[in-house]
Amino acid sequence: MPRFSYPCPDCRTTNSLHELDCRFEGMAWPTIEKAYTDCLAVLSATGPDDTLTESTLRESIHGEWGELHKAALETLKAISRVEQDDDGTLRLLTAAEYKELVSEPTIEPMRTIYEYGSIPGCHDHAVFAMIAWYEMVDLSWAETKANVCEWLRESGTWDRGGFEESSPETLVESKRHVYDAGYGWKQAGNEAKAVIDRHR
Ligand SMILES: [Zn+2]
Repeated sequence: MPRFSYPCPDCRTTNSLHELDCRFEGMAWPTIEKAYTDCLAVLSATGPDDTLTESTLRESIHGEWGELHKAALETLKAISRVEQDDDGTLRLLTAAEYKELVSEPTIEPMRTIYEYGSIPGCHDHAVFAMIAWYEMVDLSWAETKANVCEWLRESGTWDRGGFEESSPETLVESKRHVYDAGYGWKQAGNEAKAVIDRHR
């Protein structure tokens, strides 16, 4: 299992202080962590030839299956730690598979930003979203910086201009607060994608 911070499935806190409108408000963080580890214990004990469905998982976990377990599993699926086949079978990705997968986002709006790159007019949102994405999938800051710099160069984003900084590294370094604050990627990502879509 790669680094994983067991965030609250709703507000993403990694301590017991939830956002005001969080539906798990009042839930102690160790309880949240346990919901994840309950699921992961069963998932990681499932061999490549075994089939594990969601209902089997529900019956196999230690303790009662509840809303929190359900939300934890949904989070694991949303960030691609766990893959679900069309037949409902669940599978935990290996550390290597996961790292490869998250480096190239396949879900929207990140996929568009990743593939087409950013254009002047949405650089702030696009770079913000890329950094927030890699933070969410638990890459370290060094890995995040390396991935975002590579993306800036290979997607053609950097060559399109519109940056005040002298290099991709300087640019990404100046946005470290996005990584440290753990902001979400969705809103900035959607705004960037809307601009990119209009220019495609
Ligand atoms: Zn919460």
